[in-house]
Amino acid sequence: MSALSNRINNLSESATIKMAKMGRELAAKGVDVINLSFGEPDFKTPNYVKDAAKKAMDDNYTYYTPVAGYPELRKAVVAKLKNENGLDYDFSQVVVSTGAKQSIANVLFCLVNPGDEVIIPTPYWVSYSEVVKLVEGKCVFIDTTVDQDFKISPHQLEAAITPKTKLFMFSSPCNPTGSVYSKSELEALVKVFEKHPDVYILSDEIYEYINFVDKHESIAQFDSVKDRVIIINGWSKGYAMTGWRLGYSASNTEIATACDKLQGQITSGTSSISQRAGLAAYAGSLESVDEMRNAFKKRRDIVYKLLKEIDGIKVNLPDGAFYFFPDVTYYFGKSYNGKTINDADELSIYLLEEAHVSTVGGDSFGDKKSIRMSYAASEEKLVEAMARIKAALGKLK
Ligand code: PMP
Ligand code: GLU
Repeated sequence: MSALSNRINNLSESATIKMAKMGRELAAKGVDVINLSFGEPDFKTPNYVKDAAKKAMDDNYTYYTPVAGYPELRKAVVAKLKNENGLDYDFSQVVVSTGAKQSIANVLFCLVNPGDEVIIPTPYWVSYSEVVKLVEGKCVFIDTTVDQDFKISPHQLEAAITPKTKLFMFSSPCNPTGSVYSKSELEALVKVFEKHPDVYILSDEIYEYINFVDKHESIAQFDSVKDRVIIINGWSKGYAMTGWRLGYSASNTEIATACDKLQGQITSGTSSISQRAGLAAYAGSLESVDEMRNAFKKRRDIVYKLLKEIDGIKVNLPDGAFYFFPDVTYYFGKSYNGKTINDADELSIYLLEEAHVSTVGGDSFGDKKSIRMSYAASEEKLVEAMARIKAALGKLK
């Protein structure tokens, strides 16, 4: 019998992290693996941010910080939300955490009671459903397909809400589909939320800066729901700062105070040096952010064209983030070398073994029909990866 709690025994390992690990293990054996599994910008953290971190150490920013982050940093977040998003928050409503991942966990622990329903559109980022499990909430999924650009309709939302619904959580731009909700699409969802004043909305905006269509639209811009929206954001994607572990939530004061209390018992404030670096990032211009976005857009266009040339792959043109989530059902039931592909996870393993390209199967994103490909890799690697994938898929008969 396991010594571990049911809670941890029931928790799945993060599929994104697992596939990245499998790819690294194969690479350590000398295999030339192209890693399209991990959702991490391949750019360097901007130099001015690194300089600020070095200076932070020299200036002895080496002590515990306030649990919710340095007030200067929280005020910088407030200024960003005002200037870029037109949103009003007080700095006491911003809680800085060890990555957006912790911010999400904080909110779920603070809001969800056992048995509460949490509505999640599929496909979703792998950790959403697992953290809901940890807090003993019940996931209620709204399924979407590539044909609807992986976006839910107001009608689907309305049908999913019950008296037990506590929270709706989604990301836009979305991981894993890259879909971006427009202002009018958000407004249509808000009309539904207006009829259900007890439902909170977790709006994960971590890919805000990687948006190829328009300016970013937050659901918090609608006054009728703003007080029950919790914005999640951070520095990992926009500033290529994944390892710095810096994210935040912005919410009403009750939720922010609760997150602060929870964090005070679990991690305390995140790294002092990362916080100083995050402050410098926000104080700087958006030049590096723009450069990265432009590079991602170019890569998206290259990969889209190449994916469209592969038989049977059904794919939409993502408006943001750095992922494709192609429907690969065409290959189910096909075989090569005595091995039959039954689902998207098996296809992902096949591509790792046969093409030496690591992707992530859709199952842990709540969609068994697709695989996720990150295009946070050089153009050269992406072109090579697509050629390898095309060749490997071509062998399946
Ligand atoms: N939300 C989404 C949708 C993500 O893809 C990620 C990726 N890591 C996170 C949150 C967490 O980001 P962070 O690195 O800030 O913890
Ligand atoms: N969010 C990234 C991804 O989806 C990083 C891995 C993770 O944190 O799960 O791949």
